[in-house]
Amino acid sequence: MEATALNSLVNPGVRNLAPYVPGKPIEELERELGIRDIVKLASNENAFGPSPQAVDAGKKAMEDVWLYPDASGFRLKQKLAQRLDVRADQITLGNGSNDILVLVAQAFLNASLNAVFSQYCFAVYPIATQMVGATAKIAPAVSADDPLMPLGHDLEAMASRVDENTRIVFVANPNNPTGTSVAMADLLDFVRDLPDHTIVVVDEAYFEYQPEDTPTAIGWLPECPRLLVTRSFSKAFGLAGLRVGYAVSSPAISEILNRARQPFNVGLPGLAAAEVALDDVAHIERTRRENAAQRKLVANELHRLGYSVIPSAANFVLAHFGTHADAVFEYLLRNGIIVRPVANYGLPQYLRISIGTAVQNEKLLAVLGTFEA
Ligand SMILES: *Cc1c(COP(=O)(O)O)cnc(C)c1O
Repeated sequence: MEATALNSLVNPGVRNLAPYVPGKPIEELERELGIRDIVKLASNENAFGPSPQAVDAGKKAMEDVWLYPDASGFRLKQKLAQRLDVRADQITLGNGSNDILVLVAQAFLNASLNAVFSQYCFAVYPIATQMVGATAKIAPAVSADDPLMPLGHDLEAMASRVDENTRIVFVANPNNPTGTSVAMADLLDFVRDLPDHTIVVVDEAYFEYQPEDTPTAIGWLPECPRLLVTRSFSKAFGLAGLRVGYAVSSPAISEILNRARQPFNVGLPGLAAAEVALDDVAHIERTRRENAAQRKLVANELHRLGYSVIPSAANFVLAHFGTHADAVFEYLLRNGIIVRPVANYGLPQYLRISIGTAVQNEKLLAVLGTFEA
């Protein structure tokens, strides 16, 4: 059957869906350039790597991979519950937090409903919304000239988009691709003021990169029954390849998601590694500390080279290269460095650069210093 005829058979939500654009894989650039030692700063992976103990636990679990994993994720949930001071029945495990975002959309949206999110938000929110045939209501972001939170979430603008058909509001804090974070007091006011028919997802994928005493939206659950907080093992925990994420919510919401999810959505090595990763507190502390130091260095050097950088609370920076963004991206690629173009996010003048190790960042900055427009 030809493609157009086949396309007419596809669910309307999927028909016009543009696929998610991942960062360019290292192997692909290796094949293209025929070189090694490629530096990938394109997918916000933890450049300092995972906890070695977590990797050992994952390897050990490989011996049992002929068995289905524990469908209830009992041990990981117990551990998370203890760590987060919630009950285990408030936790939903996902194949990455991406899985949870899609599950929430499947469980609560349909073609007559809408989801609200900010202009420069995580690409999965519009995909999950469109896929189930729902409407995206996009709130304009804070202005690029704002001194505190350029291009970040404008909570007032978001609140004004919420109507009687809004079932989900997505807020990433810190946000990707901008790296901005909203004040928790403002976010709490926003969440409190949402109508009862609206589920709010606070996406804390980059939570662990913030200073240690940073409050989490998980603390608001007792007073916000329609709140869902999502977290990931892909970013600071450095386990992106294993696909483990989770949501914390009321037991009622968790029970709904539990009905909609695949019974074995998290694999056996992932469950085992995540459990151990949670216990390796020193690994997260080191990651947080080194990322903060390197982020500061990268931002300062980018400024010195004449590029403005949006203040980031995460493990990446969004830097402004004006009309040279494409040329800089290509120049870096030719020199074995992969960063992330964000034109598909509506930000053609910017590049998103993940924070690497000291050696990787040095290479990035050295190559950037030789770029001539
Ligand atoms: C990376 C990311 C996620 C999803 O990561 P998973 O690997 O699916 O856990 C979710 N939200 C934001 C904002 C992200 O940047």
